[in-house]
Amino acid sequence: MKMYAVVVNQDVEGDVEVVERDVRPLEYGEALVEVEYCGVCHTDLHVAAGDYGQKPGRVLGHEGIGKVTQIADGVKSLKVGDRVSIAWLFESCGSCEYCNSGRETLCRSVLNAGYTADGGMATHCIVTADYAVKVPDGLDPAQASSITCAGVTTYKGVKVSGVRPGQWIAVYGAGGLGNLGVQYAKKVFGAHVIAIDINEDKLAFAKEVGADIVINSAKEDAAKVIQEKTGGAHAAIVTAVSKDAFNSAVNCVRAGGRVVAIGLPPESMDLSIPRLVLDGIEVVGSLVGTRQDLAEAFQFGAEGLVVPLVQLRALDEAPAIFQEMREGKITGRMVIDMKKGCTCGQAH
Ligand code: NAD
Ligand code: ZN
Ligand code: ZN
Repeated sequence: MKMYAVVVNQDVEGDVEVVERDVRPLEYGEALVEVEYCGVCHTDLHVAAGDYGQKPGRVLGHEGIGKVTQIADGVKSLKVGDRVSIAWLFESCGSCEYCNSGRETLCRSVLNAGYTADGGMATHCIVTADYAVKVPDGLDPAQASSITCAGVTTYKGVKVSGVRPGQWIAVYGAGGLGNLGVQYAKKVFGAHVIAIDINEDKLAFAKEVGADIVINSAKEDAAKVIQEKTGGAHAAIVTAVSKDAFNSAVNCVRAGGRVVAIGLPPESMDLSIPRLVLDGIEVVGSLVGTRQDLAEAFQFGAEGLVVPLVQLRALDEAPAIFQEMREGKITGRMVIDMKKGCTCGQAH
C-alpha cells in the first residue's frame, strides 16, 4: 500500500516536501491509522529546521487524528474503526521511574511522533497502539487534532502553573498554543487571563476567546503593565518563540509566582538570581501531556468549553503553511485535511 507524507527536506533548512512512501507491514502491538486530519505545530518548524538535531526525510506531524483500519497481534486497547490521536508522546518504555510515576513524557526511551518516529502528517501512520488516545464522541475530529498537541500542552501547562480560580495568569504568545491556553485557563480553571503577543490579530482573537486583558509587547512593556493592573500575575505560561517573552514572564509575576516554560526557541533566557531568591519565583518546564492529560483535554473539547479555531488545507499546501507560520501569519491552527487530496490529484 502507498501513502503520501509531509517530510523534512534532505538539507534540513526548514522546508518540507510531500513524498510517496510504502506502508510497511504492522509489527506486534501496532495499529494502522488512516489519518483524517493533522495540525501544523510550530514544533514541526523547529524539527524541519534541525533546531534539535538533523532529521532528513522524517515524516512530520504530532497533531494527527484518524481511524484505525488494521491492528496487529497483541493489541488490546484499540479496535478497527476507533478514532484516535497521533501525539508527540508516540511511545515510552512503560517501566521506568517516569513512566511509573505519571511523568511518562519524561521517559528517557521515549519516541516522539514527527521527530524520532514517523508522524501523522500523512495519509497513513503506524502507531504503537497503547499510546493512541481515543477521541470522545461529540468532539469534531479536526478540532481534536489541535487538542492533540496545542490543547493538551497548554491544558497541562495551566495545571502545572497551579493557578486557582479567580487568580491572574499571563499567557505569553497567543498563537496556536496560546489561544487554547487562554481558553483552558479561563473556562476550565476559572482564572483571569492576560494574553500577550506582538501581533494585533492574535490579540483580537485572544480577547474573543476569553482574555480579560490583552497586551501588545512590541508596543508596551508587558511585565510593567501586568504589575500595574493586577499587582503581578499569580502565574504565567510562555508559549512565545522568543526569549524576550520568557524574560518578561519572570518579571510579570508577583512574589511566589510560577512561570511555566512551554515555547521552545533554541536559546537561553536571563534569570536574575536575586529576583528568583528574594521573591521566591519558580520557573519550570512543561512538556506536552500524558495520555491521561490528553483524554481530559479532549473531554473539555467535547463538552464545548474549549473550541479550537481550525482552517482546513490540502496536503500539498504543507510547504506554504510552514512559510505562513514562519512569518507569523496564522491565527488559530492550520489543519491538513487528508481527504482534500495531494499532489497526485487523487483522493486517498
Ligand atoms: P505559533 O507560531 O502558532 O505561536 C507563537 C506565537 O508567539 C505567535 O502568535 C507569535 O506572534 C508570538 N510571539 C512571538 N514573539 C513573541 C514575543 N516576543 N512576545 C509575545 N509573543 C510572541 O506557535 P505554536 O504552535 O503556538 O508553538 C509555540 C511554541 O511552543 C513553539 O516553540 C513550539 O515548538 C512550542 N511547543 C512546545 C510544546 C511543549 O510540550 N512544551 C508543545 C508544542 C509546542
Ligand atoms: Zn506540537
Ligand atoms: Zn519510561
